[in-house]
Amino acid sequence: MAEPVILTVDDEPQVLNAVNRDLRQHYRSNYRIMKAGSGAEALEAVRQLKQRNTPIALFLVDQRMPNISGTEFLAEARKYYPEARKVLLTAYADTEAAIASINTIGLDYYLMKPWDPPEQNLYPILDDLLDDWAATVSVPYDGIRVAGTLWSAASHSVKDFLARNRIPYQWLDIENDAEIRTLVTTMNQEDRRLPVVFFPDGSVLIEPDNWALAGKIGMNTQATQPFYDLIIVGGGPAGLGAAVYGASEGLRTLMVEKAATGGQAGTSSKIENYLGFPKGLSGADLARRAEAQARRFGVEILAPQEVVRVRVEDPYRIVQLRDGTELNCHALLIASGATVQKIQVPGVERLTGAGIYYGAAVTEATHYCGQHVYIVGGANSAGQGAMFFARYASQVTMLVRASLLEKEMSRYLVDQIYSQDNIDVRLRTAVAEVHGTDRLEAITIQHTDTGQTETAAAAALFIFIGAVPHTDLVAGVVERNHAGFILTGTDLIRNGQRPKGWTLKRDPFILETSVPGIFAAGDVRQGAVRRVASAVGEGAITVGLVHQYLKTV
Ligand SMILES: Cc1cc2nc3c(=O)[nH]c(=O)nc-3n(C[C@H](O)[C@H](O)[C@H](O)COP(=O)(O)OP(=O)(O)OC[C@H]3O[C@@H](n4cnc5c(N)ncnc54)[C@H](O)[C@@H]3O)c2cc1C
Repeated sequence: MAEPVILTVDDEPQVLNAVNRDLRQHYRSNYRIMKAGSGAEALEAVRQLKQRNTPIALFLVDQRMPNISGTEFLAEARKYYPEARKVLLTAYADTEAAIASINTIGLDYYLMKPWDPPEQNLYPILDDLLDDWAATVSVPYDGIRVAGTLWSAASHSVKDFLARNRIPYQWLDIENDAEIRTLVTTMNQEDRRLPVVFFPDGSVLIEPDNWALAGKIGMNTQATQPFYDLIIVGGGPAGLGAAVYGASEGLRTLMVEKAATGGQAGTSSKIENYLGFPKGLSGADLARRAEAQARRFGVEILAPQEVVRVRVEDPYRIVQLRDGTELNCHALLIASGATVQKIQVPGVERLTGAGIYYGAAVTEATHYCGQHVYIVGGANSAGQGAMFFARYASQVTMLVRASLLEKEMSRYLVDQIYSQDNIDVRLRTAVAEVHGTDRLEAITIQHTDTGQTETAAAAALFIFIGAVPHTDLVAGVVERNHAGFILTGTDLIRNGQRPKGWTLKRDPFILETSVPGIFAAGDVRQGAVRRVASAVGEGAITVGLVHQYLKTV
């Protein structure tokens, strides 16, 4: 890829030269720094760069310029470079215009002049934006390639694994690419198993599972130590929250994640209610940032790796991994979350992965450009999925059992959905059957009031309904409720009695389970709020409780 550009625009030569100097000092080894003395000159430069296919990573533009303001320039420039990050240089009087630009042109940041010292007021902000840009921009391809069809469940699973672990790959649809089809058929003549995964070193894996992929890519699945102060099962928001606080407060911390860090949140196309991100952020972005933060504090992360069993040999809590390895710790956090519930409707199991998906908005959306897709569910995750699909599909229909969308969905999302032209919401409906030979072709919709049914053509069906907790690993070890969610804190006290087998002279801490030193946080807990922020918060609180617990070990 050609060296990406940072373009700075200002009509005041003194300011322009000062910005240019500061940018060169910090970024010249990775970026080409360009400057322009007016909006018009800058637009001409943008057009020329586009013709040469040179990427622009960031615009840093003064708001006050004659003829064309900073905001007007950015509105024009983003037509050529929608991915480039956009920063306005403002005086105090321009603050309102800058805030308005967050909505109108997707402004990423506004900086007050002067920005001295740049180490404090300029570089940290631009570093963050440039990291973001580098993580999302597409580059000419020379990495892993996955060849398959949209209708193969195994192809979907490989793509999902790579995407959620932020491993770049190129998708090759063999139905649309004759050369790849020939290659795949020659390699795989007998059973035509899909997908075929090509690696840059020339090797190939056919229909690999997550573990085979992880081994080939060299992901970290083995612990370096036999003992840790704190082991965390699950790398969703709760696990990541605990990991960051645990390690930053000096605990030797290991986090074990079965699939990909970020958990359910990592599959969300846009989280709009997480504190500190007024424009919202994708789950993948949140996971990437949190994982980087955890690693910076020294957390050891095994992913993909699974804890299959937990046992207690006082004072140790022992976890058994999928490969039989055992690791010991003093404190254990179960943050293994929950998964979307499966629906029991004729045909769904057979066509899952072939037009029917659980969640999966981010991985699959682009394949349904211009088509009619259906969404089952009426909570926030379904609403976000609908909004995301509305960008690609011609029509999105939500099938919702409830009589009001507001029943389970946040108000802001309800408003967005009702103002989106290509989303229609069908209340009091459910899927009764799905049809198709090799892929989904149609669905039967039932009206729950009347029992009447109708059949409609459907390109895809995305399911976002209730959750099932991942707690088999602690079955018989800690107390769970009838649905498998883990009991913690006061939920364990019945008729003033502490849980069976509890030996300490104190009650269980708020996030402690029926076994001292084993904690549970996030969606896996009975009564959890099921939000990213609450999971992160519970992870952080657990660390405080772990410190208290460790004083007694
Ligand atoms: C599509 C979607 C959109 C959402 N959008 C929002 C939103 O906008 N705002 C909001 O606040 N909330 C949102 N939520 C809810 C939010 O994502 C969850 O409440 C949150 O992720 C719960 O975090 P957690 O860490 O408790 O569990 P999870 O996110 O479920 O993470 C648990 C992790 O543990 C791993 N794991 C499970 N078992 C094991 C094992 N045995 N060994 C090792 N690892 C294991 C799993 O692979 C998973 O990564 C959304 C959920 C979904 C599905």
